[in-house]
Amino acid sequence: MKMNKKYALLAILTLLLLSVFAGCSSTTQGESEKESKQQPIIIQGPMPIEAEKFAERLDNVEEEKSGTFEFYKGTVNDYPVIVAKTGKGMENTAAATAVAIEKYDPIAIINQGTSGGHDPDLHVYDIVLGERVTNIGSLKTGHREEGEGISPKEWIPMDLMASEGSAGEDPDAENIRYYDGDQELLAAAKAVKDTHKKGKVVEGTIGSADVWNNEVDRINWFHEKYGTSLEEMEGAAGAQISKAYDVPFLSIRILSNNKVNGGEYDPNTAEANQEYVYEVVKEYISTTVK
Ligand code: SAH
Repeated sequence: MKMNKKYALLAILTLLLLSVFAGCSSTTQGESEKESKQQPIIIQGPMPIEAEKFAERLDNVEEEKSGTFEFYKGTVNDYPVIVAKTGKGMENTAAATAVAIEKYDPIAIINQGTSGGHDPDLHVYDIVLGERVTNIGSLKTGHREEGEGISPKEWIPMDLMASEGSAGEDPDAENIRYYDGDQELLAAAKAVKDTHKKGKVVEGTIGSADVWNNEVDRINWFHEKYGTSLEEMEGAAGAQISKAYDVPFLSIRILSNNKVNGGEYDPNTAEANQEYVYEVVKEYISTTVK
């Protein structure tokens, strides 16, 4: 009987001690989980010249690869920031966006890089903040029989997100789909406009497709019908996937060329844009996420 009591006491003591230890370790675990829960800001750039200059500005950088997508994980002012080199084009960008969201649970995504102007008032080194982004490669042609030729000006915008049914048959899909830029990211970008000295910074509409348009009449058609300020090959893909996961998104594009007013391609614009986006990120960290 006495022995049994002793064992019972021992058992109770052991249980008590165990629960104290468990309590301790769960608090420390909880705290470190919270620390690592600071959600990173992701900065996307398609080409090496559009990503690596920003990556060089990060502190404590570690590189990670998924497929062909490269992620430079680091910090800006002690806040986690990941630069993603996505590769060019809509498919690369869509996939790199989904992979980044699943892997890193970002608080926000900025897609940035070079572009071609559609607006004659915009010049090489001017920057456009994507108040809205749209896919200018998502089109339905008119009906024409063999031998009747092709007529691109009659093509109709096709909204692939309008319904789950056939977009080819659905008149509700004959609309331009715009993705709005996130208001808080836009506010941060507007607040540091003055830091960009090589051109102006304006709000506008960004058109994306895996197409490089050099026909001025076609560029004017997009400018008038879609209100595009410029074109590039990534923004709308990043915006679409960010929206699918409800992640705040903004596209920030510098003109590297403008066919409409004779602006010659200048690759150094890529670095100038990253300098500006770095200022946007610092502003966003200090005003919004910290
Ligand atoms: N300069 C290369 C093509 C680069 S692909 C060549 O001529 O072969 C185009 C990349 O630059 C994309 O990432 C796209 O976003 C950007 N870009 C810059 N200006 C563009 C324009 N006028 N039209 C389409 N994309 C443009």
